[in-house]
Amino acid sequence: MKKLIGRLMEESRRNIPSGRVADYIPELAKKNRDSFSVSIVTMDGAIAHCGDTGEMFTMQSVSKLFSLALALESIGPKSVFSRVGMNPTSEPFNSILKLEISDSHKPMNPMINAGAIAVVSILPFDTSGERFRMVLDLVRRMAANPAIDFDENVYLSEKLTGDRNRALAYFMKSTGDICGDVESHLDAYFRQCSIAVTTDDLAVMGATIAGNGTCPVNGERVVSASVCKTLRAMMITCGMYDGSGEFALRVGIPAKSGVSGGILVSAPERMGIGVWGPSLDEKGNSVAGADFLERLADELELRSI
Ligand code: GLN
Repeated sequence: MKKLIGRLMEESRRNIPSGRVADYIPELAKKNRDSFSVSIVTMDGAIAHCGDTGEMFTMQSVSKLFSLALALESIGPKSVFSRVGMNPTSEPFNSILKLEISDSHKPMNPMINAGAIAVVSILPFDTSGERFRMVLDLVRRMAANPAIDFDENVYLSEKLTGDRNRALAYFMKSTGDICGDVESHLDAYFRQCSIAVTTDDLAVMGATIAGNGTCPVNGERVVSASVCKTLRAMMITCGMYDGSGEFALRVGIPAKSGVSGGILVSAPERMGIGVWGPSLDEKGNSVAGADFLERLADELELRSI
């Protein structure tokens, strides 16, 4: 497996110059555009990896899966989807357009920024600190890695510059779509986006989702099968933002990307895959990562649609 990963990575590396590293969160711009790593965890818990696998990066939008999982487990899908939609959007992940023009003003889905902020706001815990700690705890258990924590520098960098997210959140407060203290919801959201991981961690989390909630590394049942089914449906329809349709055609496996260049992939009953390459296409998805996944899906017949 390691050999196969290495060979495909060499081919995919050629795409790196066509993209660019996100810099709207200044701390993210410090990453090397040429970094690239891939990890695969199969359902027996075996791991194979290649590239810069020791390097840590922040989860960014990948973390939205876990605040959604926590909301689904704690208040149930009916309550969650009364506050956030479940359909893909053709707008970028930080767009305000649909929020304003749709009749309900409800965010389109939990994988875009507005939807993820709305999800954080309905987590049934008293303080923003508690909300964040519950998300972090779930991430640690999904990854079977209690050492995972957040990156203070990335958190502060986004908190200082996150005016677009502030605009989305205050707009939703003005329409009654989120309640309570907006700054504390944003604080929990910025912290969860700054959780730092490796591709090994992403692959284990992807495998836990692929295995319907049981972590293949330590056998712990972390979330229910029905939550995993919802996560995979959200990933395939909305996980790559407004590039989700193209990604479904090219790769055809549930995946969630983040603007740091990470992609968490969950091939049902087969494997979890973690990919990291900070050079992004215009939609915010890793160029080398998406190309690698397309090649791997062909080689291993991973397509689930
Ligand atoms: N923290 C980022 C933001 O809110 C997450 C976006 C992303 O990964 N696409 O802008």
